Amino acid sequence: MIQKSMDDETNASAIKEKTISLVVPAFNEEASIPLFIEAFMLARQKWAFDSHVIIVDDGSSDGSLALLRKYATEYECVHYIAFSRNFGKEAALSAGIDHATGHGVVLMDVDLQHPLSTIPKFVEVWHDQGVDIVYGVRDEVNQETALKRWTSRQFYRFFNKMAHTRLPEGGGDFRLLDKRVVEVLKRLPERNRFMKGLYAWVGFRTQALTYEQPARVAGDTRFNYWKLWNFALDGIVSFSTWPLRVWSYIGVGVALLSFLYAGYIVLRTLIFGADVPGYASLAAGVMFLGGMQLMSIGIIGEYLGRLFIETKDRPLYIVAESKVPDNEN
Ligand code: UDP
Ligand code: MG
Repeated sequence: MIQKSMDDETNASAIKEKTISLVVPAFNEEASIPLFIEAFMLARQKWAFDSHVIIVDDGSSDGSLALLRKYATEYECVHYIAFSRNFGKEAALSAGIDHATGHGVVLMDVDLQHPLSTIPKFVEVWHDQGVDIVYGVRDEVNQETALKRWTSRQFYRFFNKMAHTRLPEGGGDFRLLDKRVVEVLKRLPERNRFMKGLYAWVGFRTQALTYEQPARVAGDTRFNYWKLWNFALDGIVSFSTWPLRVWSYIGVGVALLSFLYAGYIVLRTLIFGADVPGYASLAAGVMFLGGMQLMSIGIIGEYLGRLFIETKDRPLYIVAESKVPDNEN
């Protein structure tokens, strides 16, 4: 009994010495930022561990940056990185990860859809169970439309069928990463950052934790279906070469079929003589094959385009200004 309470104490004191960096991307979020900062300043007082936040302004065109400058001068624990233009959420997460100094790094949205009250639970699992990644899984009762939920489920299913990397369904960006995972992520050289895939790809001991996701505090989602489609395409093309390879099999299949068909035509001509009609099957065949060839070239293009971007070796993002935590450890 005494032993147990002593263990608890050592545990608690160890947690006290931990620092958690919150990495929060924000794109045109002037309405959410003040609410987020207010909620964070309140919440962190109650946390057993030390914490700071790095908000990454992803090239906002509203008053977000002015707000961040103000809060960063006002509060020591508020940091920010401002991009020179919109580079996308994945780049913003990467920038935050690059500059985070905490023992653990929590990635979360600024719209308070990722509740601050979940963070101590993440920290507890990370600290007590020695897990390297704790990721949040949305409770089913959330505000997303049925169509969005359905498309998201189909994406996970499709992705997991095609790629060797397994994506846990419902696991988003909201998660805690141990420092050693952060170090590995920092070293990954690719420009095409499909973070959900990268977290899974790096491995490590991982644990899920469900949380309830409320509606956005202010504004609307920054992701429309077109953006999401491109995002899904990025994910699949970055983690699977199956779309490239499948054409060899389709090619073999079509070649076999046409071989059989040719045999049939030769036989039929030998038996019944030549007949001119056959325009419809000819046209259908040509169009079908033409369509398939265009599609396969398009898919090669998807990969080639990304290869092109990777070889240019441009930076992932450009920082226009920042106030980041000192790297003392
Ligand atoms: N975001 C970003 N860059 C973008 C789009 C979004 O940094 O190009 C940020 C946004 O400000 C928010 C987070 O990513 O903090 C999630 O965006 P949102 O809430 O619109 O997505 P949803 O919750 O609908 O998936
Ligand atoms: Mg949101």
